[in-house]
Amino acid sequence: MPNRQIPVSSRLSDVRYEIRGELFERALALEAQGHVVHKLNIGNPASFGFKTPAHLGAEIRARLEDSEGYCHQRGLTEPRVVIADQARARGAANVDPERTWIGNGVSELIDLALRALLNHGDEVLVPSPDYPLWTASVLLNGGIAVHYPCRPEAGFVPDPAEIEALITPRTRALVLINPNNPTGAVYPPERVAALAALAVRHRLVLLSDEIYDGLLYDKAGFEPVARHGSETVCLSFGGLSKVYRACGYRVGWMVMSGDVRRANDLRHAIELLAALRLCSNVPGQWAIVPALTGPDSASALTAPGGRLFETRRAVIDGVRASRHLDLVTPAGALYAFPGVPGATPAQFDDRRFALDLLEQEQVLLVPGSSFNVPYRNHFRITLLPDAALMRDVLERIERVLVRTLERPEDARQVA
Ligand code: PLP
Repeated sequence: MPNRQIPVSSRLSDVRYEIRGELFERALALEAQGHVVHKLNIGNPASFGFKTPAHLGAEIRARLEDSEGYCHQRGLTEPRVVIADQARARGAANVDPERTWIGNGVSELIDLALRALLNHGDEVLVPSPDYPLWTASVLLNGGIAVHYPCRPEAGFVPDPAEIEALITPRTRALVLINPNNPTGAVYPPERVAALAALAVRHRLVLLSDEIYDGLLYDKAGFEPVARHGSETVCLSFGGLSKVYRACGYRVGWMVMSGDVRRANDLRHAIELLAALRLCSNVPGQWAIVPALTGPDSASALTAPGGRLFETRRAVIDGVRASRHLDLVTPAGALYAFPGVPGATPAQFDDRRFALDLLEQEQVLLVPGSSFNVPYRNHFRITLLPDAALMRDVLERIERVLVRTLERPEDARQVA
């Protein structure tokens, strides 16, 4: 029987991860044809020349011979002690290295936590826009992702009352991503406290993705939700990929805190799943202690004159000069999420725009609708290129916007 496909899991039918999807494949094909494509789709600092602080790699090299065996499923002891110390210092209650897990990136731990938690049909409150792994992992583990809006007109900061209206008897957990990918929003402390109080009131597990905790601009301050979550179960996620520019080391962690007496079963479920994958990559774990106890290398990047700050400024200036774009100024993380306000779907479609931008101007970015939003007039761009390249990229974006919105009859014809 010719071309009869092997059936695949139906669990995947609604699962999407377009950051590395068809547009990305098209960009690679253009590169293979000899085009220079500016790929601004992935938050991978190394591919834009950022370096991991040297003392992290030095420690891995020094400990390589100690890395030849499996370690405990939770991870090496010393790093877990330091991670737990950091969580305690941030005000998390009932933290213990025995309830701290190291994984192959936060990605692995997101899946592991949701797998441990969810039964078929359980609902999880996920931000919209989200980092799409969260929605995908909820679906893959039999849950239902109920998206709560983080509205551009509210600075992409969620409203606890709007979230509360979505809670049902099947709601199990509230996901927060703060500082946020893709919007760059950083939630004010009183809002974080209100979100935690909501979780306490409804006995929801707080799942707090804080992987961008050290990447803050201007006067933004990071407020850990665990500080306010002592009366519910809280799982806080952090890692080396972003703040320490070490995506390739694949190192993330997850700290349980709060009302841990209610979480014995959850803890055992996590332990079982962690044991089934034996352990996380061992060499990378040696970088954790020098990262968390060594000098701060991120603030210089996000302060005036710093590489990320200046690129962010190039985006802000580019949007200001644009006839069509609008932006909630990112206060943290590595992205901006500009929009085209007032454009109707017939005038502007984020996917069509992203494809035109790629084909006509050789810039790859991610359409906003890849982040589980109901509207199609936003896109995500990473702040990782240098400022000069970002200025150039903003000009290319504007050219396509002008063609799309002001001369739609020409827009399709440009090769
Ligand atoms: N969470 C968020 C919000 C992210 O943006 C990312 C990566 O971009 C991850 C988790 C995954 O990070 P890791 O490299 O630790 O798997």
